[in-house]
Amino acid sequence: MLKFVDSTVVFQEIPDETTLAVSLSNCPCRCPGCHSRYLWDDVGRPLDNAALDTLMEPGRGVVSCICFMGGDADPDEVQRLAHHVRQVYPAVHVAWYSGRTCVAPQVDRSLFDYIKVGPYIAHLGPLSSPRTNQRLFKRQPDNSWQDITSRFWKERHQET
Ligand code: SF4
Repeated sequence: MLKFVDSTVVFQEIPDETTLAVSLSNCPCRCPGCHSRYLWDDVGRPLDNAALDTLMEPGRGVVSCICFMGGDADPDEVQRLAHHVRQVYPAVHVAWYSGRTCVAPQVDRSLFDYIKVGPYIAHLGPLSSPRTNQRLFKRQPDNSWQDITSRFWKERHQET
């Protein structure tokens, strides 16, 4: 079972969404220069359906998206949690920030509205860097995936 360390409402991880970001531990990716080393160990509280419901409750009507941050040690479990969100919170979008280069082939991508892939490579930078290797995709009505990574760059330019 996956465990979570914390959860926070954020506004920048997924463009145009108010997102409940849930940080999952036991990350197997081991990116050099990782900004979240505390997620490498198998720590935190189990994220079963009841725990997920408890996290969702305060944000009802406000949160438009839930993002699983990590979970690459058990992609089947991320998929199961995504299915739970689809069943219980049909108005809430589902996102997954994976550190892998691509999503495991057995995962049903239709359970997700956004998928971010790519490990953190320090000299290329995070999503906000135009040189980044990471990509954020948004599922389209025809189930194709649009690369929306450049949204992070445009928003950065608007801020400066
Ligand atoms: S995927 Fe994220 S948490 Fe995991 S090692 Fe890479 S940067 Fe760290």
